[in-house]
Amino acid sequence: MASAADTFAFARIPHPAPVAADVRAQVLANPGFGTAFSDHMVSIEYDEAQGWHDAKVMPYGPIPLDPAASVLHYAQEIFEGLKAYRLADGGIALFRPEANAARFNASARRLAMPELPEALFVEAVRQQVLADKDWFPTVEGGSLYLRPFMFATEAFLGVRPSKKYRFLVIASPAGNYFKSGAPAVSIWVSDYTRAAPGGTGAAKCGGNYAASLVPTAEAFLRGHDQVLFLDAAEHRWIEELGGMNLFFVMADGTIVTPPLGGTILPGITRESLIALAREEGLTVREERYALDQWRDDAASGKLVETFACGTAAVVTPVGKVAGRDGEFAIGSGGPGQLTQKLRARLVAIQRGEAADSHGWVKRIA
Ligand SMILES: *Cc1c(COP(=O)(O)O)cnc(C)c1O
Repeated sequence: MASAADTFAFARIPHPAPVAADVRAQVLANPGFGTAFSDHMVSIEYDEAQGWHDAKVMPYGPIPLDPAASVLHYAQEIFEGLKAYRLADGGIALFRPEANAARFNASARRLAMPELPEALFVEAVRQQVLADKDWFPTVEGGSLYLRPFMFATEAFLGVRPSKKYRFLVIASPAGNYFKSGAPAVSIWVSDYTRAAPGGTGAAKCGGNYAASLVPTAEAFLRGHDQVLFLDAAEHRWIEELGGMNLFFVMADGTIVTPPLGGTILPGITRESLIALAREEGLTVREERYALDQWRDDAASGKLVETFACGTAAVVTPVGKVAGRDGEFAIGSGGPGQLTQKLRARLVAIQRGEAADSHGWVKRIA
């Protein structure tokens, strides 16, 4: 197939009044996460007659939407999250953007939305980064977080897939909010269910997050940092956190992570860490792991570490687990050795400081 990106010209509409350099410098020195946005965004429209069209890099800002737009009523919306990194030599790289493109289309299929050619997805992300390459944080460990998303725009209240969509990419400077050596998090085992077999658990759609807000608020109220979901059928098997996958490290070096069965999100960080751990000679088993077993293994010392992973925080150690039946600690309660080692390996590859034997790092400038 001739790459869609080749045949696609992105129109360029520069922002007439970009954020002033001194204001931007302040943001970039202390970016936080997800609160500041760069000057531009990428926009591509879809309708049945024209397919994907009207690609442009345009000023970041509010978007007009018909009140009957179906996203506002039936939540046809999917998204991705990936980061652009500044390399030591001043270049810019993306980490496995093709994997995000493929997952975006898997989400699109589940939500009855049109697929975006993978090359066009990657090109849209590249255009966004190049338009706002002055928006990389100046803090160590910072990156430019990219949020591609698609939503239904047809004004129609009947229940069927929309015939019109809009795809946007926005960018937000992100700090390094879970540095290595950061304290381990405490998690609450929710009584709520995130996803059931046959549902949308493997799709990255806003609706999954809407349903996780009450369980997450409950975890916060009880003094925990994150929520953990168990399987819907038996309420016994560990699935994942609200937005991160989980790994369990045994004393003998074996690593266990829940399998992808349609109810958990197939994380790209998860997949990358499995590959890196196997390269280290470790055995990684993708198999079900029960909450009871976890508690027993933590008590007996068979299990020594647990960590969560995802693009935003990379790797986050879990130190404490609490639920209706009481609580237990993991290892020493701090970040474990293997957790820190795998995190360091992955971050070094992402930043171009370690050899990239998998071809994961895509240099775009
Ligand atoms: C995005 C996401 C993850 C992590 O995926 P990455 O590709 O590693 O960022 C895990 N769980 C959920 C529910 C997610 O939405």
